[in-house]
Amino acid sequence: MDLTKDQIERYSRQIVLKEVGGIGQKKLLSSKITVIGLGALGSSTAIYLTAAGVGALQIIDFDTIEISNLHRQILHFTEDINRKKTTSATEKLNSLNPDCKIEVVNDRITPKNSKKLLKNSDFVIEGSDNIPTKMLINDTCVSLRIPFTIAGVLRFHGQIMTVVPENKTSCYRCVFGDSTEGDSSMSCSQAGVIGFVPGVLGCLEANEALKYLLGIGELLTNKIMYVDLLRNSFDFIEVHRNDNCMACGDNARDLVESTNYGGLDACNE
Ligand SMILES: [Zn+2]
Repeated sequence: MDLTKDQIERYSRQIVLKEVGGIGQKKLLSSKITVIGLGALGSSTAIYLTAAGVGALQIIDFDTIEISNLHRQILHFTEDINRKKTTSATEKLNSLNPDCKIEVVNDRITPKNSKKLLKNSDFVIEGSDNIPTKMLINDTCVSLRIPFTIAGVLRFHGQIMTVVPENKTSCYRCVFGDSTEGDSSMSCSQAGVIGFVPGVLGCLEANEALKYLLGIGELLTNKIMYVDLLRNSFDFIEVHRNDNCMACGDNARDLVESTNYGGLDACNE
C-alpha cells in the first residue's frame, strides 16, 4: 500500500517525525483499534486516533446522549441529545477523516460477546467508568493476548495503565484483585468530574495505542500513572505481576465465561 498524495499531505506533520515516517503511517493505516465507551474518555481517544489515520476504529457503546454529558463528552453536541452515542460519534469521525473506517457496535459489551468483539483488534482502549467492565475487558484481552490500556477519572484526577499480555506485564486484576463489583460511591454522577481530566486521560490512552503500534517510546506497563490536574502532577505507582493472578498468573484460567461481572449496566464514561 502506497500513501496517496492527499495522505502524505494530511499526515505530513507526523510523517516528518523520525519515529513515525511513511512506514509508521502505513502501519497505522493498516491497524484496527477498538474503543469501548464513547463517553468522555472515548470521545477524546476516538477523535485523536481518527485524526492520526488509524485504518479502522471499532466503537462500542449502547447509550444515548444526555445534556449532562456535554461538558466533557466532546464528540457529542447539543443537537445530538437523545441520539445514540455511536451514531453521533460516527458522523463526526467520518467527517474528520474518511481514511478511518468506523465500525459500529451498538451494544453493551458482556461476557457473552466480548471475545467475538475484541478478537480482531490490534489494540483495545477501555473507556468505561465501571470496574466490572474494566475487569471484563482485562480478562478478555489477557485471554486473547491483545494489548490494551485502561483509564479511570473522577473529580480532578485520573489514572491509567497499559497491559501487554504477550510480555507478561502486570494486568488490571493483578493490581485490583478479584473485585468485580463497582463501588457506587465512585461514580462521576455523584462525585463529579471536570471535563478536562478525561480529555487528558483519553489522549494518553490514544498515545499508548500509537506507541504500541509503532513500537516506539515507553508504555505505561507495570505502573499506574496518576494524574492530578489541581496540582498539575503526574505521579507513577510501580505495580507487579501477581504470580497467583487468576487472569494472567502461572495457573491462570479463562475467566470470561465463568465470571459474573456484576454491575455491567453502569454508565460509560
Ligand atoms: Zn494479572
